[in-house]
Amino acid sequence: MSHEFTHDVFLRPGSLDLALTRLRTRSVRLWLAVVSGVLLAFTHNASGAGSDGLSANAALADHLARLQPKIPKGFTVALQPPFVVIGDESPERVRLRATNTVKWTVEKLKQDYFPRDPPEIIDIWLFRDETSYTRHASLLFNDTPTTPFGYYSAAHHALIMNISTGGGTLVHEIVHPFMRANFPPCPAWFNEGLASLYEHSSEKNGHIRGLTNWRLAGLQEAIRDGKTISFQRLTATSDGDFYGGTRSNNYSQHYAQARYLCYYLQEQGLLVRFYREFAANAKVDPTGCHTLKRVLGVDDLTAFQRKWETFVLGLRFP
Ligand SMILES: [Zn+2]
Repeated sequence: MSHEFTHDVFLRPGSLDLALTRLRTRSVRLWLAVVSGVLLAFTHNASGAGSDGLSANAALADHLARLQPKIPKGFTVALQPPFVVIGDESPERVRLRATNTVKWTVEKLKQDYFPRDPPEIIDIWLFRDETSYTRHASLLFNDTPTTPFGYYSAAHHALIMNISTGGGTLVHEIVHPFMRANFPPCPAWFNEGLASLYEHSSEKNGHIRGLTNWRLAGLQEAIRDGKTISFQRLTATSDGDFYGGTRSNNYSQHYAQARYLCYYLQEQGLLVRFYREFAANAKVDPTGCHTLKRVLGVDDLTAFQRKWETFVLGLRFP
């Protein structure tokens, strides 16, 4: 991904990266004192951090103390609250992932969507290749990954990534804890639609912008074959059905359809408004279907869908 960055010296907690190999020669107590000191500086400079800053620091220091013994030799740790980034690429590379991907994504998502941080501290494990990913998922989490890219382990509050497959999945997964913290009843269709939108993203006018990606070809094929489902149905899909249900064929198509509905809204300048109105009205419109109609300014979603399908067929990737 190519991003433009503004470098604000006060908001660079990512520079607080710690090569654990070096740290092993020092006491954990000293390490935590240093970490807490820098975190305090961070908290005082970061926007939105108030009196909760001290307890947040204590929680992070406590988290790091418990995490430290688990970190294998040769890994680099970079703090990017509310995330801790841990990786076995070069220290420079891990640092860049923490700032160029994690920090950038968090800032951009918070700017448009998510005022609240996730309540939990989340570890982002970035394994440098498939061997390291598979091996450490087993060693550290007793998991056998079912995806080559990466996944979120709710039990461990950890994103476990094979970062050699690219940063897109990482950006996708960062959306979910923020959605949980800000819009807990958000149904899967929109949660995954928005997360998928930013799998391939860049910056435009200072805001995050989703780009077309690999999910397009399958969706265009489904449109040509008349196999898309109505938006009425998509928005009413239960989380279980969205994630596959009994017909796992639909799984990736649901993602693609939800993603390119979000993409359409984005291109019309309506996506942020849709999110905010959906979240605000979820009690009366839990599926988002009515909010979608209102934001689009349409009465007839079927007619809108024809227009959307023509729009999608006109998109290109790569
Ligand atoms: Zn997801």
